[in-house]
Amino acid sequence: MPDETTEDEVQEALAINADIKEMLNIRFKLSSRQPGTAHWILETPSESFHKLKRLGKLPIHWTMHQVQEFFHIKRCNNCQGFRHLAKDCPSNRPSCGSCVGHHPTRKCRSPQVVCINCAMHNQIHGTRFPAYHHTSDSGCSCYLREVALYKETRDY
Ligand SMILES: [Zn+2]
Ligand SMILES: [Zn+2]
Ligand SMILES: [Zn+2]
Repeated sequence: MPDETTEDEVQEALAINADIKEMLNIRFKLSSRQPGTAHWILETPSESFHKLKRLGKLPIHWTMHQVQEFFHIKRCNNCQGFRHLAKDCPSNRPSCGSCVGHHPTRKCRSPQVVCINCAMHNQIHGTRFPAYHHTSDSGCSCYLREVALYKETRDY
C-alpha cells in the first residue's frame, strides 16, 4: 500500500469488494522493498479471512493490491532456529544467518551464503534441501516446513 493510504480507504475497499462489514484490526505495517509503500498486516476473524482469501486482490484507487496470508513464524536471530526469539534462545553460541559459521550475522565475512537450518537438516535427516540462501529467505525449505506445521495447528 502507498504510505498515504488511510485506514478508512482500506476499510471501505474491504466493505465494497469483499463484503466485510466489521472493522478489521490493523496489527502493524511492514516496510516493503518499494520505497513509499508498506505491507499492512490485518487481523481478521475467520469469516472475513475466507472472504479475503477468495478475493485475492483488493482494488484501492484503481490499483490492485495483493492479499496474502501472513504467517507469524518466529525465527531466532542468535541461533537461527525456529519457534523462539533471541531473548529466549537456549544456545549460548551465535550462528550466522548467511553462512554456517558461529558468529553474529552482522559480523559475517563469508562470501558464500549458506542456510544453516537447511544445511543441518540435510546433514541430520539426509534431505536435499537447497541451502544457498539466507536463513531469512522466504523460500527456505525449513521455513516453509514451519509454515506448513503452523497451518496444521491453526484451525480456521
Ligand atoms: Zn535461538
Ligand atoms: Zn557468517
Ligand atoms: Zn534454509
